[in-house]
Amino acid sequence: MSTPVETPPVLETRQLTKTFRHGNEVVEAVKDVTLRLEEGEFVAVMGASGSGKSTLLHLIAGLTRPDSGRVVVEGQDLADLRDGRLTRFRRRRIGLVFQSYNLIPALSAEDNILLPVLADGRGRPTTEKLEELLEQLALLERRRHRPDALSGGEQQRVAIARALVSDPAVLLADEPTGNLDSVTTQDICRLLRKLRDEQHRTILLVTHEPAVAVWAQRVLILKDGRNLTEFSTAELDDAQHLAARYQDIVSTAAEMEASR
Ligand code: ADP
Ligand code: MG
Repeated sequence: MSTPVETPPVLETRQLTKTFRHGNEVVEAVKDVTLRLEEGEFVAVMGASGSGKSTLLHLIAGLTRPDSGRVVVEGQDLADLRDGRLTRFRRRRIGLVFQSYNLIPALSAEDNILLPVLADGRGRPTTEKLEELLEQLALLERRRHRPDALSGGEQQRVAIARALVSDPAVLLADEPTGNLDSVTTQDICRLLRKLRDEQHRTILLVTHEPAVAVWAQRVLILKDGRNLTEFSTAELDDAQHLAARYQDIVSTAAEMEASR
């Protein structure tokens, strides 16, 4: 009998570490973080401001090089890719969404979405494919609008469409609802959840808000750059329960630290 070939996880980090120096002060922004995302998983990273969430996401996206540890996307170790190849790999396999939508003001929603594939020298997607994407993100009616004619939620949906246009292996989102009101925040979360449920998208989302993290299937807690713990949201009823759980974990960690 042959042993089944193991497919690598979509995303894996191994003991990822990144230190910053401010004069004499050393900040361990990310310390020994090991995580794994299988295809179709929606995972949230939670932590207070300064806990290393953005640094972790930048390391995973290959925007920052780690001091030590590895980032492997679909079996590709990012450390083995130099400059141009890393940029190309990121453009094709990693979708990035930020708190600020980073859209180009002079371009229509549609042209903003198409920018990554055009920059990559690949042709436009077929009209059918593009319209399918616009439809999934409820942007069909807004395709010709420029960013200043769009609401915050619509602008973020354009940014998500732009991240998905190259059909990446993983979608990375850093506080994607940070500039949105609570109703629009829930709309964006519902959309991300739909992308996972209906298209089997793999999503890693960074947030400090329980009302956002509760949409993920699994939550990983960062404190001072370290992954304290992770848990499934399946047994939690709502954001209040998640907030309580999160508080519990963080206070226990603080007590343990104080008693050392
Ligand atoms: P979060 O996103 O959870 O708020 P960050 O990853 O932005 O946290 O920051 C973690 C720590 O690393 C903070 O102490 C921050 O000041 C520091 N840090 C982040 N980026 C840099 C940088 N480019 N240069 C120096 N220090 C940084
Ligand atoms: Mg941040």
